[in-house]
Amino acid sequence: MPQIFPLWPITTVPVDGSDAVFPVRRIFCIGKNYADHVREMGSDPATTPPCIFMKPSDCLKVGDGDLAYPSATDDLHYEGELVVALSAGGKNMDRAAAEAAIFGYAAGLDMTRRDVQADLKDRRLPWDMAKSFDDCAAISAIRRKEDCDNPQATNLKLSVNDAVRQNDTTAKMIWPVVDALMHLSTLIELKAGDLLYTGTPEGVGAVHRGDRMDVVIEHVGALSVTLK
Ligand code: MN
Repeated sequence: MPQIFPLWPITTVPVDGSDAVFPVRRIFCIGKNYADHVREMGSDPATTPPCIFMKPSDCLKVGDGDLAYPSATDDLHYEGELVVALSAGGKNMDRAAAEAAIFGYAAGLDMTRRDVQADLKDRRLPWDMAKSFDDCAAISAIRRKEDCDNPQATNLKLSVNDAVRQNDTTAKMIWPVVDALMHLSTLIELKAGDLLYTGTPEGVGAVHRGDRMDVVIEHVGALSVTLK
């Protein structure tokens, strides 16, 4: 059957230390997964549980380089995050299945139109266009889990033009990685190729054209991108 236009390329992410690539299926993200970040956004973590949203996989910027400054915002924020990559999936996964589904981890950026998000929150509308736009997420190479040293208790650091803005431990996640995957698998069948951005610690802020963002997650990976 003829296609009415050519198939678009699937986004792929290099696998650290090999020539293999990881084909990206979907991008899930956790919001409000670190209490200090919930507080800096003006909410109470005791009454505001984490939430899940998505980003389009073809809006993912892979590896170091330039990131486009998006339209429709004057308040673009960085969020440095640990990213989990799945090589298997399932529904209603138990702890063992969720652990087994993890292929590896990466350093990532969840870029956010904070002014758009604030407006949508005020009007109790979905966040989609605050979180989904061209180059709305970035990711380093994926490191296989057997080569990562305890990604659930490692240091995450984000610098803007060499000034440290976020510096925290992934041990502070409200929903640790495996718990988040188990929960997500009760809402949707997870699949090989899915990515999960696991939320950002405190210290988010605005960036401008020309700014360089460096995300370093100890024993996982590093990412360096410049806003154009
Ligand atoms: Mn985020």
